[in-house]
Amino acid sequence: MKADSKQPLISATAVNKHFGPVHVIKDVSSSFYQGEVAVIIGASGSGKSTFLRMLNRLETHDSGRIVIDGIELNDNLKNIDAVRREVGMVFQSFNLFPHLTVLDNITLAPRRLRGLTREQANVVALELLGKVGLAGHAHKYPHQMSGGQQQRVAIARSLAMQPKVMLFDEPTSALDPEMIKEVLDVMKDLARSGMTMIVVTHEMGFAREVADRVIFFEHGRILHEAPPEEFFGNAHNDRIRAFLGQIANQ
Ligand code: ADP
Ligand code: MG
Repeated sequence: MKADSKQPLISATAVNKHFGPVHVIKDVSSSFYQGEVAVIIGASGSGKSTFLRMLNRLETHDSGRIVIDGIELNDNLKNIDAVRREVGMVFQSFNLFPHLTVLDNITLAPRRLRGLTREQANVVALELLGKVGLAGHAHKYPHQMSGGQQQRVAIARSLAMQPKVMLFDEPTSALDPEMIKEVLDVMKDLARSGMTMIVVTHEMGFAREVADRVIFFEHGRILHEAPPEEFFGNAHNDRIRAFLGQIANQ
């Protein structure tokens, strides 16, 4: 899973972001390499979602640089389009189109934005549905599926654009406990297939098992980052230890 190229796929350098007077991302720098799986944790309000959303320009940054696969994120709309084609994102709420079948949910963007024919897009979609364990569900509507199934469709939909990076923002936190595993299993498979992933989650089992690096956000800064063995092995920092204790007791 480790990087084989020296160039980071994503680099953020001294990035800052304010919402009005509130400084929510403070001089954050980090690089993410091809094939790397990074897990971001931290208290609510620490800036995790904002950081993730800046990586595909759902939020702008005020200063600093974000470069993805050689493309700088700035006001250039061409660059933004190019980055969005490379960066897939899965949110806590799955946001499937309720009036479209699973198949149409997955094929819509590849047909519109990548110029695939319906037949070509269907082939890709059916293969992806197999990968997320939903072969045979192509003609269902979202409301006919469980939350866990819908989130797996959302992952397939994102993958259909053939992104180079997948961002996940608390993808299992809206799910009933019995559905969390099926979504995490799909994400683990994806990680093992070599996908570059940045995952905001409090599923520490996932972090231990597949992350190359755990990043702890506090008040808009990266307080600590380390490989999971090290991160969990000696949670030397009081605040990190307290945070891990808290989520373990949830
Ligand atoms: P996390 O994902 O770690 O819970 P967020 O990135 O969502 O944190 O939020 C970081 C801070 O920015 C919080 O104080 C939050 O209230 C604030 N914030 C997030 N989005 C907005 C917004 N659109 N407008 C104003 N403040 C925001
Ligand atoms: Mg968040």
